[in-house]
Amino acid sequence: MLRGLTARIDLKAAMGNLERIARAAGGRPVIAVVKADAYGHGAVELSRAFIQGGAHTLAVAFVSEARELRESGITAPILVLFDRSEIPAFFDLGLTPVIHDMKTAREFSEEAARRGRDLPVHVKIDTGMGRMGLERPADVSDLIKLPGIECVALMSHLSDADLADPLCSIRQVEKLNSAAADLFPKSITLHMANSAAVFSCPEAHMDAVRPGIALYGTSPFDDANDKHPGTSELEPVMSVSAKVLTVRRVQKGNTISYGRTFTAERDTLAAVLAMGYADGYNRALSGQAHVLLRGQRARIAGRVCMDLTVADVTDIEGVSEGDEAVLLGRQGTEKITSHELAKMAGTIPYEILTSLGARARRVFN
Ligand SMILES: *Cc1c(COP(=O)(O)O)cnc(C)c1O
Repeated sequence: MLRGLTARIDLKAAMGNLERIARAAGGRPVIAVVKADAYGHGAVELSRAFIQGGAHTLAVAFVSEARELRESGITAPILVLFDRSEIPAFFDLGLTPVIHDMKTAREFSEEAARRGRDLPVHVKIDTGMGRMGLERPADVSDLIKLPGIECVALMSHLSDADLADPLCSIRQVEKLNSAAADLFPKSITLHMANSAAVFSCPEAHMDAVRPGIALYGTSPFDDANDKHPGTSELEPVMSVSAKVLTVRRVQKGNTISYGRTFTAERDTLAAVLAMGYADGYNRALSGQAHVLLRGQRARIAGRVCMDLTVADVTDIEGVSEGDEAVLLGRQGTEKITSHELAKMAGTIPYEILTSLGARARRVFN
């Protein structure tokens, strides 16, 4: 169902980010992470752009996401990071699973035997994320001996590459390297670098990098500790706007929205916008965040509602019904970033992008 928001998706910016990431990773292959509908940007369109831009492989979380890509004609390699609910689909759709436990590995092995065909897989080693992956080398060793399973890569995931201290990441890198040396004395493809490690931890670049958020033009680092060369060149891919439904005068002393948290301290001009928390505009932005109208900042007045939000446009000349209010992105010389919204909403840019992108009408250019 389409609601009030319009998301403009700049595919050229996405391809530019891919290029910047590949450069930062010393030209290594890029596994483009397009899970969660490409972080709210549209998985099919973004996948096509990344493949065209030279990405080596796509990565999704679930089989259903991979199926959508295959059904839209995308033939590139697809890595499924977490899901193992439909084992036959991996064979039918030509998907590569990430295997993180013995039970699943056996199921893949049995299906491979039934079909008389080996399945290439990546095996995940838990080096410190504590979420998924095998921890004991003996388990990995048993797993890779199973018939029908061809382990073509070992991978791991970093828990805090976005923090200022790179030592934690280095410890994780060493764990993966030593597991690889024990299990595959000849050599095996290794990957573990998320966006943060692409820009901050060359030791983690290994044989391929696996970025998500940076592809979409958002730095993985907090503004406060972002001194990494390269992240400032990332270009946001998505901008989001909402239509002004009506502009009304609110008399001095009157209040706006639920809970009457905004009282007009002067005669106020209020623009009612077709956006709310049902569109992914976080309610914690109430009374704090800005939108851009006529190239200027207007503050949200009172609480964000389900479908509507009001902005105080008293100081902005000429706002009228039908205008586009930008809640994320640029208008004129002003901009609102996902970092700005995330900070106010007490969350991270990832959640801002996936929430706002999911329910907007998307326009690609
Ligand atoms: C989401 C994800 C990534 C990408 O992380 P970013 O921080 O968005 O770069 C990489 N690897 C795995 C396993 C992931 O789940």
